[in-house]
Amino acid sequence: MLYTPLVSDLRACLGADNVLSAPSELAVYECDAATVQRVRPTAVIFPRSTGQVVDTVKICNSYCVPVVPRGAGTSLAGGCLPVGGGVVLVLTRMNRILEINLRDRMAVVEAGVQNLRLAQALAGAGYRFAPDPTSQRASTIGGNVATNAGGPHSLKYGSTAQHVLGVEAVLADGSAMRIGPVLGPAGLNLLGLLVGSEGTLGIVTKVWVRLTPCPRNYRTVRAVFHRLEDAAQAAGRILAAGIVPSALELMDHGMLAAVEEAFHFSLPREAGALLMIEVDGLNAGLDQVQSQIEECCRQANASEIHQAKTPAEREDLWQCCKLTAGATGRLCPSYILHDGVAPRSRLPRILQRVAEIGRNRQVRILTVAHAGSGNFHAILPFDEQDRTEVDRAEAAGRELLEECIACGGSISAEHGIGTRKLALMERLWTAAELEAMRRIRESFDPAGLLNTGKLLPNRP
Ligand SMILES: Cc1cc2nc3c(=O)[nH]c(=O)nc-3n(C[C@H](O)[C@H](O)[C@H](O)COP(=O)(O)OP(=O)(O)OC[C@H]3O[C@@H](n4cnc5c(N)ncnc54)[C@H](O)[C@@H]3O)c2cc1C
Repeated sequence: MLYTPLVSDLRACLGADNVLSAPSELAVYECDAATVQRVRPTAVIFPRSTGQVVDTVKICNSYCVPVVPRGAGTSLAGGCLPVGGGVVLVLTRMNRILEINLRDRMAVVEAGVQNLRLAQALAGAGYRFAPDPTSQRASTIGGNVATNAGGPHSLKYGSTAQHVLGVEAVLADGSAMRIGPVLGPAGLNLLGLLVGSEGTLGIVTKVWVRLTPCPRNYRTVRAVFHRLEDAAQAAGRILAAGIVPSALELMDHGMLAAVEEAFHFSLPREAGALLMIEVDGLNAGLDQVQSQIEECCRQANASEIHQAKTPAEREDLWQCCKLTAGATGRLCPSYILHDGVAPRSRLPRILQRVAEIGRNRQVRILTVAHAGSGNFHAILPFDEQDRTEVDRAEAAGRELLEECIACGGSISAEHGIGTRKLALMERLWTAAELEAMRRIRESFDPAGLLNTGKLLPNRP
């Protein structure tokens, strides 16, 4: 056990049960879901109230030690890494749902509440918090806010930013600030700045979320294609026809074979790609929209089109899409997952390029995509024990993100920049744009002690 003066002060403030400092305990927090990069923290703390967050930030400030906020640690971008040392502040013990207010269509939750727990609490009320990242079983609402998380429903319903009405946050100087609930624009959009700032502007402790009515009627279609490009073309045709699906999820051959191998959904293993398309809304008209969708798929050479006829069949289709990470985990000890984004019209081309990059660099790449948003997830499995394999996967990952920039897209649609994509920020933004962002950050955190080394590269 390491009892530095900092750790002693933290233990006195939070209680010994809420502070970890033994090397074996710290090892658990030396990475997030991006396991390829590891840094051991100085200490890990679990505050139980906003007041304790305020106190610990002040203690850390007095030692000039950085504070790294962490929710469930599902970041795929190294967002929770204590770069250069620092105290990891884990919010999962602040996990109370404080209010569900259907009249005002909002809920108030502490930052450590898991996304799925809120969904479960709302089940039966006919309302939901629309953002549902695939990580929703684990990821926290605070983490969703910090990364502006998206998910399958973002295409129709928007990402987290569209569903957050207010936050309480602890700033770098240890003061607590409440923004909102914002019901109309007045003044600068501070809430907009906080959402997606990856813990660099403040530690979110409480969130006012928007509740939206659950759709009552669905049509869910599975379409199978021989070629990945055809599936991407079908997605383009559906959108061009003026349809806004509530989900438009794509899986390439490697991914669907891996899901089938692991979970047995009777998916056609030999298929080149699969699209899962869902539309929701008023019953009247949905059958017609479904026919249009099927026609778009046929025109793009779908080899099989199947409509989910029962709630169980629909659930199976959703599970296929939600269990991709679990299926990947069975293929290899580790993987890199990059969420690149391309203009929708360029999705077929970028998916072709991803496959070429994999072949050229001898790296296996599995792809899933929120195809309607042009957002694809390239999963690059590797064995951490084999350094050359790691290097090849890293190089392929970088190349495919550069490809996204080159075609007018971006290096992240929902997972954030963290540490993993920092180097590419200078390719994405001009020096002047990055400087403007740094100035905003400095106005919140002049000493640079909040989630140091993330999101924005240091000045050259
Ligand atoms: C299997 C899998 C599937 C995923 N699917 C999706 C998906 O569909 N859509 C999507 O958007 N993302 C997805 N992700 C990425 C990740 O789950 C999201 O970014 C999620 O929002 C992170 O939540 P978390 O609680 O795990 O945050 P963490 O991973 O703990 O933290 C993420 C970032 O937010 C900061 N942070 C966390 N909590 C706070 C807080 N309270 N205040 C301030 N900063 C904070 C951290 O410092 C870090 O920079 C997936 C990840 C995995 C592993």
